[in-house]
Amino acid sequence: MSTETTGTLHAGWDFFTSEPGRHVVLHCRVCGEPMAAARDVVGPTGWAHAMAIRAGQANGRLHDRFHCTQCSEPWHRQALALRQQAERSPSKQFADVLTDEAGEVVRTRTATKDVSGVC
Ligand SMILES: [Zn+2]
Repeated sequence: MSTETTGTLHAGWDFFTSEPGRHVVLHCRVCGEPMAAARDVVGPTGWAHAMAIRAGQANGRLHDRFHCTQCSEPWHRQALALRQQAERSPSKQFADVLTDEAGEVVRTRTATKDVSGVC
């Protein structure tokens, strides 16, 4: 996985924007798969930027956009929720349990619980 941060405009779990041409391949932080890339697109580079454009206070920006093509799959939504919960947990033991379950959900590509998520 890339750890490159120069030129990063938005780095999410399964969505990423960067300066044009900065990254050849980026991997999803949820499932590890290479993300689909849209090159040299003009538009918002993140949620706050999108809101600013909608409010007429900003313009779109030229950038590359990456997203995971699995993000709408139930197993991917659950793995994302588990990883986010693990990251927020103050307990290392609880985080380890959540991370282990996320790994199993990704490995089997089967959700063990129905969760709603944002893609
Ligand atoms: Zn993914």
